[in-house]
Amino acid sequence: MQTKSLFISAGHSASDPGAVGNGYTEAAIVLEFRDYLAEALRARGIEFSKDGGRGENLPLSRAWRMAADHDIAVEFHCNAFSRPSATGVETLSHPEHMELGRAICTAISDTLGIVNRGAKGEGSGQHSRLAFVSSGGGIIVELFFISNPDDVAKYQRWKLQLAEVLADLLAEEVRNA
Ligand SMILES: [Zn+2]
Repeated sequence: MQTKSLFISAGHSASDPGAVGNGYTEAAIVLEFRDYLAEALRARGIEFSKDGGRGENLPLSRAWRMAADHDIAVEFHCNAFSRPSATGVETLSHPEHMELGRAICTAISDTLGIVNRGAKGEGSGQHSRLAFVSSGGGIIVELFFISNPDDVAKYQRWKLQLAEVLADLLAEEVRNA
């Protein structure tokens, strides 16, 4: 029995490709991952909304409004930094979603074998879509550093497994009373 509504979002699109690194755009990674996660959620019978059809990403102004209409809203991004050694996963959210943020960070860190940078507040780090948190009450997930070749390689190796792991975690979250 599902007790909470769920929204999943890709943070970028062809018109707003985000960071670039190691042969990938952030848009290509997060659109693909959102769609993998959608398939894994459907396989578990979870109801959810997402920010556009396969390969499509609605503008932030639509995404944060949709986020605000759901109990749980998660948007995927990649981190980037000038030093290629910067590594790891982190989330940004309001305090009430820190616990889920920590669980998401642990799941991603364990699955990809990268550093767990932890669940942080909306003011942390370098991010361009904070309205998703500040106005939408959502959780921004910075999956890994697109500027780090090792992070990118681990993600590409484990991305399908990661979609299954996060689908399990989110399914449990939305079924919890
Ligand atoms: Zn981004």
